[in-house]
Amino acid sequence: MTREASEPGGIVVVGNGMAGARLVSEIRARDPHVPLTVFGAEAWQPYNRVLLSNVLAGATGPDQIGLVDPAWYGANRVDARLGVEVVRIDREARVVHGSDGSAVPYRTLVLATGSSSFVPPIPGTRDGLPAGAVAFRTLDDCSAIIDAADGARRAVVVGGGLLGIEAARGLVGRGLEVTVVHLAGHLMERQLDPGAGKVLARTLGRLGIRARVDVSVSALRVVLDAGAPRVTGVELAGCGGAEGADGAEFLGADLVVLACGVRPEVGLACAAGLEVDRGIVVDEELRSVSDPAVRAIGECSQYGDTVYGLVAPAWEQATVLADLLTGADARARFTGARQITRLKAASVDLVSMGETHHGDDDPDVEVIRFADASRGTYKKVTIREDRVIGAILLGETSTAGTLTQLYDRAAPLPADRLSLFFPGLGGAQPADSPVRMPDAATVCHCNNVTKGQIRACWEKGARTADEVAARTRATTGCGGCRDAVEGIVGWLGEQESVPAG
Ligand SMILES: Cc1cc2nc3c(=O)[nH]c(=O)nc-3n(C[C@H](O)[C@H](O)[C@H](O)COP(=O)(O)OP(=O)(O)OC[C@H]3O[C@@H](n4cnc5c(N)ncnc54)[C@H](O)[C@@H]3O)c2cc1C
Repeated sequence: MTREASEPGGIVVVGNGMAGARLVSEIRARDPHVPLTVFGAEAWQPYNRVLLSNVLAGATGPDQIGLVDPAWYGANRVDARLGVEVVRIDREARVVHGSDGSAVPYRTLVLATGSSSFVPPIPGTRDGLPAGAVAFRTLDDCSAIIDAADGARRAVVVGGGLLGIEAARGLVGRGLEVTVVHLAGHLMERQLDPGAGKVLARTLGRLGIRARVDVSVSALRVVLDAGAPRVTGVELAGCGGAEGADGAEFLGADLVVLACGVRPEVGLACAAGLEVDRGIVVDEELRSVSDPAVRAIGECSQYGDTVYGLVAPAWEQATVLADLLTGADARARFTGARQITRLKAASVDLVSMGETHHGDDDPDVEVIRFADASRGTYKKVTIREDRVIGAILLGETSTAGTLTQLYDRAAPLPADRLSLFFPGLGGAQPADSPVRMPDAATVCHCNNVTKGQIRACWEKGARTADEVAARTRATTGCGGCRDAVEGIVGWLGEQESVPAG
């Protein structure tokens, strides 16, 4: 056991979200004794934030997304302080102070405070959000959106990134007229190139979602309803319309969802004098560069130039840190993560990874593209030195597994490039098939689970995807690998039932 874990004061984790909760369970799995306290500002047991989009869409119940059974804490001697925010860190005394007046000493402090929604400082938001306007980050936000959608007719979603589109899809499924208003020139501009953005807008249009790009919201229009402010719509800047104040165009709405991006929650770290750039600056051991007793993981942390906004890197950091803090693997290091995004919106299949913005003008980069806008299909692979450095699959994602493996492992490409887009073409059998997939291939990216680990699970008796999930955690992140895990389990079952000889 390391010095950090064995000395009095133990480990204190601030933030019981996806990174913090995972860290706590990984530490306990390695060390049943180290004193462990976790503070969570949200009153709920930790939950899978990624699945809030499915809750909003009505595909998953809020009671189905819990990550930790509340009874687990007591049974595992974890001091869980749910609904208590840490309001101050005294680094000199090595004590954190909670909003309930408590003070807890630490040997090692882990900050896992995540992010909060960015709310643009425009008229209508400055004194807090009016009724009918909600940001989209927490379970409380999600419940507020669902409540407000009940009885509403028109919704405006401000922000056409991943979250905004998932929210829009959920709301249109609840019968609302939905318009997405986006500042950039095309939707999901961080993950998609303009061509893909246009095809996506068309696909959303077919589902009844109107997308307005290149426009900014200059104000939320508000009326007083029984003395309290209530939103009636948004004003768009620079659109030359005549309806709103100062000639701004007005979009009426009973519900406005703000999905304008997030900001790392670093206020506590800044106040404690830790080095913060966009996030809390950490090294390969997730250690604050200002204080060796403080670590940071998840969306509040910054490794190199990157603040990760996805769950896979947060969970990988949690595993590395648990190894380090318990001494299970003193050589564990976080050296960066690849970023793969999958949209979770019914009838919109979309996977994006790596560098997707290259055009044909870079002589060092090969770009292969296929577009069929009328069918909502757009596929692009960018290649450098015979390796996939990025890809977009929109509308038809059957080769996502193959591309992800090639991208993940920087493996050389097959000579037959067509098979990257069209499974089975050119005689190549898709590597997505459980038969062809190598054991080293990562199947669950959120939890970094390989086909080999699923096979090993099978060999130890797991016979269903749920049993595999219980042992490896595969499928328990965004859930996008569920079909692949079921495919592997099914294939292993067939292998077993084939008579020998
Ligand atoms: C709707 C939605 C859909 C998403 N979809 C995807 C997806 O498909 N794929 C993907 O990879 N990622 C997705 N994400 C992003 C993913 O949820 C985040 O990357 C992940 O939650 C980050 O984990 P975290 O622990 O760093 O932050 P969080 O999960 O935000 O947890 C931070 C926690 O710390 C608490 N906290 C903050 N300050 C304090 C304090 N001072 N004291 C005590 N507690 C504090 C907060 O209340 C919060 O509970 C999605 C996010 C949302 C909102």
